[in-house]
Amino acid sequence: MTSPRTLLVISAHAGDFVWRAGGAIALATSRGERAKVVCLSYGERGESAKAWRAGRTLQEIKAIRREEAEHAAAALGAEIEFLDAGDYPLVESRELVDRLVGVYREVVPDVVLTHPMADPYNGDHPAAARMALQARVLAQAIGYDAPGEPLGAPPVFFFEPHQPEQCDFKPDVLLDITPVFGAKRKAMECLPAQQHMWDYYTDLARRRGVQLKRNAGPNLGLAHDTIGEAYMRLYPQVTDVLS
Ligand SMILES: [Zn+2]
Repeated sequence: MTSPRTLLVISAHAGDFVWRAGGAIALATSRGERAKVVCLSYGERGESAKAWRAGRTLQEIKAIRREEAEHAAAALGAEIEFLDAGDYPLVESRELVDRLVGVYREVVPDVVLTHPMADPYNGDHPAAARMALQARVLAQAIGYDAPGEPLGAPPVFFFEPHQPEQCDFKPDVLLDITPVFGAKRKAMECLPAQQHMWDYYTDLARRRGVQLKRNAGPNLGLAHDTIGEAYMRLYPQVTDVLS
């Protein structure tokens, strides 16, 4: 028996994986695959404005965001790990990259999802992407000193940023998340600290669903109403069948 496929999601802040990749995660787990989310920080300083306005302390905010993200991950059927590296700024370090190498060697992902390399609105997102990509390459090196076997070359997909046009994000993969959108919405609702995002990302999923249909067509057997998530590939697709 081969072991089930695994999906690794590396996100800068506690909520990012939900808005941008919740559908991909729910799809994977609905097929019995393993999905692991790594949050480099809790988004405690930069993405928790509501809690700061309510007068919460830094420690309280971290605890709130952690609990919310744990609930969201559970709603998607995913494991979650927090590296508590701090945000705004998320500082890149050799130690943090090394911890990610350990994650790669332990999870042995078949697919990796992370932020795109550019985001002029949020420096933490590209910082997370750079560390995620560097760790993937280091984990492939037989001579790199970390437990486990050297990694293969899992494909990397960038998930959709909040302002795609400014982040050089042009979708080349539209993922049909129609059957699991209920789970994604439920996961979004686990994040009341960012309630303003629920409807925004529901609308975005509907728009991506319309584009998805436009690029496939009912003759491929797609349902009339589709919901989607957009991704960009970093490396070329490897296949022996073009369509
Ligand atoms: Zn973020």
